This record gives sequence, structure tokens and C-alpha cells, in this order.
Amino acid sequence: MTTRTKRRRAQAAATVLLAGMTAWACAGCGGNAHATPSVLAAVSVGASPSDSSASASVSASASPSPSASASASSSPPAVMRANTVGATGKVVVIDPGHDGGNETHAAEINQLVPQGFGQEKACDTTGTNGADGYSEHEFNFQVSLLVKADLEQHGLRVILTRNSDTGVGPCVNVRAAIGNNAHAAAAISIHADGGPASGRGYQLLEAENSVGGAGVDAASHRLAVDLHSTFDQESGLIPSNYVGADGYEPRDDIAGLNLSTVPKILVECGNMRNASDLALEESAAGRARMAQAIADGILRFLGQ
Ligand code: ZN
Repeated sequence: MTTRTKRRRAQAAATVLLAGMTAWACAGCGGNAHATPSVLAAVSVGASPSDSSASASVSASASPSPSASASASSSPPAVMRANTVGATGKVVVIDPGHDGGNETHAAEINQLVPQGFGQEKACDTTGTNGADGYSEHEFNFQVSLLVKADLEQHGLRVILTRNSDTGVGPCVNVRAAIGNNAHAAAAISIHADGGPASGRGYQLLEAENSVGGAGVDAASHRLAVDLHSTFDQESGLIPSNYVGADGYEPRDDIAGLNLSTVPKILVECGNMRNASDLALEESAAGRARMAQAIADGILRFLGQ
């Protein structure tokens, strides 16, 4: 965390242009190469590890509050749900970043795996956490379950890259392969950031170049644009004010994006080191709003 935070601060100060940006990694990406994900297994929302109430308010209505004072207790806004024509039956891969067992399996998560284009990086990291110890891996998993339930209600088939929050892995290259092997119509990695305490907001990470080629990269960008719109309208978060540009962040070091042959992005759902963002992340209502933004962005993309 310390090293990455320093890098992030340096980058935030130095980066005005997006071109060539190779910022610090998202709070990480990865898992355990030894783990074999059960990619077809379903996980019910009720299995949410610590807050089963998070599943209840996905469609609740309230006024959106995208400002810095967004209330953690407000429910998702009443918005017109995306047109799902064309989306029904398609496969979506949801990738909850990190895993609960990573912290106690350093050897596994530190092993090097392909990052794409001849580079290697660690299998995964532990992810970040809030000042009070609320972990990113738990947040990622909780939000992912909400997104899965929402998309399934719209007739999509959803595959999770991990089906519990107590395992190790899978590694970031395996997470990409799950989307590729499923020929997913869209894939998204769900994370939260560990940036400077003064920084707020969501980030949409895109591969500068993926092994999927220019067509996949263009589709991934369209996916990012759609999520940008729904995040602004529904999530309660603002576009990042400390890294990237207006919530967008091209990267060349995210294996899970570099190795994708299907449209894929990574979303950092706020900064867990910022008290305002953390309040949203820790509340069931806040997570429901972010999950709705993710689901609606995917539906908007697939409906095109
Ligand atoms: Zn992360």
C-alpha cells in the first residue's frame, strides 16, 4: 500500500495527459494459480458474507446525489432502467477483485503470471481496505453478487470468477481467461481503490491495448462510456478527482484487461481511503447504488 500510494500521489501530480499512462495498479488484481474457479456455479445474493440486506434495495428509489456529500444512507435513484432488448441470454462475466484468503497465501499470490505482451506480474494482491478494516475483497464480492442478481433478473447469464470470499485467487490471467472462454458479451472487474485520503471518485480502467485487438479495445471503451453515464447518474460517486481524466484511465499494466479477447473494463468503485467514499462503500444502500450503476451500464452496452 505504501509504495503504491506514493506512486499514485506522484502520478496524480504528474499526469495531465492520459497518453502513455502507466499508473500504479488498481488496488490489485489477482488470485491463486492453484485455484480452479467453478465458473458455472451460481452464488445466491443471500450468500453475501456480511450484509444480506444489501440485496434488498437494488431497485429502491430515491434522489441521486452525485455530489461530494452523497448520502451513504440513500437508496438507489429512480432512473429509467436500460433498454435490455438485445441483451437477454447473453453471457456476462463479473470479476470480484482479490479474495479473502490472499493475505494468508503470500507465496501463491506473489507468483508471477503472464500480464500480456511478454510481461509478467504477480498473480494477485490482497487489495486495499478502509481505515476501520473493511476490506476491499469483501466489498468487491458484495457488489458483484448484487450485480449478478440484477443482471439475471434481466435474463442474462452471469459467471463469477470466484464464488466465495474466503478462497485464494484465481490469478489475474485466469480471470481474463474465464471471460475469454465464456465468449462473454461483456466482462467487468469490480474493485475499490486505495488512493490518497483527499481523493474521491470512481475510475474506469481500460487496456491501452489488449490481445483482443483494436475491435475489442473499441468495444471496451464503449462499455466504459456506458458505465460512466450510469455511474454519474446512479452511483453516488463522482468521477475520480485524483487520477486519470474525468473518471477514465487507460492502463498498460492490468493483466486482466490486457489478456482479454472480449469487451472488458475494470471499475474502481471509489476510494476506500477517503471517508466519504468509504461511507458509501460500507452502507448497503451505497453498494446497491453502485451495483445498479454497473448493471445498468452493462445493460446499456448490451442493448446497443
Ligand atoms: Zn483492487
